[in-house]
Amino acid sequence: MSFENLNLIKPIQKALAEEGYTHPTPIQSQAIPVILERKDILGCAQTGTGKTAAFAAPILQILYAEMPTGKYRRTIKSLILTPTRELAVQIEESFKTYGKYTGLRSTVVFGGVSQTRQTDILRNGVDILIATPGRLLDLMNQNYISLKDIKLFVLDEADRMLDMGFINDIKKVIARLPVKRQSLFFSATMPPEIVKFARTILSDPVKIEVTPESPAVEAIKQGVYFVAKPDKKALLIHILKNEAIDSALVFTRTKHGADQVTKSLNSAKIHAEAIHGNKSQNARQTALNNFKSKRTRVLVATDIAARGIDVDKLSHVINFEMPDVSETYVHRIGRTGRAGLSGVALSFCDADERSQLRDINRLINIPIPVIKDHPFAQIEREIVHNKPEPNNTHLGRNKTGIDFNPEDAAKRNKRRWFGKSKSYGRNETRKY
Ligand code: AMP
Repeated sequence: MSFENLNLIKPIQKALAEEGYTHPTPIQSQAIPVILERKDILGCAQTGTGKTAAFAAPILQILYAEMPTGKYRRTIKSLILTPTRELAVQIEESFKTYGKYTGLRSTVVFGGVSQTRQTDILRNGVDILIATPGRLLDLMNQNYISLKDIKLFVLDEADRMLDMGFINDIKKVIARLPVKRQSLFFSATMPPEIVKFARTILSDPVKIEVTPESPAVEAIKQGVYFVAKPDKKALLIHILKNEAIDSALVFTRTKHGADQVTKSLNSAKIHAEAIHGNKSQNARQTALNNFKSKRTRVLVATDIAARGIDVDKLSHVINFEMPDVSETYVHRIGRTGRAGLSGVALSFCDADERSQLRDINRLINIPIPVIKDHPFAQIEREIVHNKPEPNNTHLGRNKTGIDFNPEDAAKRNKRRWFGKSKSYGRNETRKY
């Protein structure tokens, strides 16, 4: 299957080819034809599956086909609502990238920054608007934004929107949309309340589900270090002194923890920046841009700040602290190993975090291999749950020092992680 088979027009095909996309991902090959047929979609897919291009490319194509020739007054014809500023910026970058040969204009609005720049761009006219709910309503109430010409509406990360308490804001936005429109609804999970909510927005939708069995996840090498809490910073510095690590996203549980870790790394001359909810929007975006452009090698983040952040060619994810919720582990490590590249996920586990590790091992159904060869190793009595499976024991070490058989582990992980995880369960997503 190629993008040509999906009937995408040349200007979009050219932009995708320049991004190095040779084949559509499963969500793209399923969603693009349906959207081009002008049908509504109820899509169960998470970030990392190629979801953005799955809706952005056909939206661009539809608007391009309807673009008047010559000079015209641009009005907003497509609205994409997404929960966080980082996601909004990322989606807008994608529209700009995929639409660079279409002549269509897009912009993004989000809160936490002055609105002047945003309103200046809006005044000049745009075709596509990407927005977070609060700022959108704000600007609508000030008459900077009208939704009366919207033909295509996308609600992205619906489960997270509801989690973040945006339901009333979303309802207010939807009340202002034209009744006659095409709506695309995406959510990483499909619990009954999301399905019920989707029904209020969609009209006879086509259901599309992609399980995140991406080859990217198969490529992730994992390892856990048993280390005393006070030694974690020293261990992190020890690991990051290895220059073979191109880029690392380090997860901490708290904002304060993220700041502390960043400080220690910088004192050790390892350039790191932190990203979390206490930072200003500008500081977060700058840190993220620096990391994406490889000016900063290490980004330290909390889960909330980092969810959905997409970084090309991220080589390492490091769990400085074990996540409390096992599913979060899967979310975190899925940041690396994307687009067929290999990735490494390392976790630091202190004595108080053993139960979290046990839960994760249970969830992924294959114990994370223990890395014993490091200067801060703790003598471990209780490693029953972390013994490599028998068919892994004959394996030598790879570059990362992790006992690992990628093929076997990947096959098992692929089946088990997503088969059993509550939020990814197949049965759950079938209950539309
Ligand atoms: P998304 O789920 O939209 O956040 O996309 C995840 C990542 O996959 C992004 O880095 C995209 O640039 C990349 N991507 C999307 N579609 C393709 C494709 N067809 N081939 C290769 N990479 C892709």
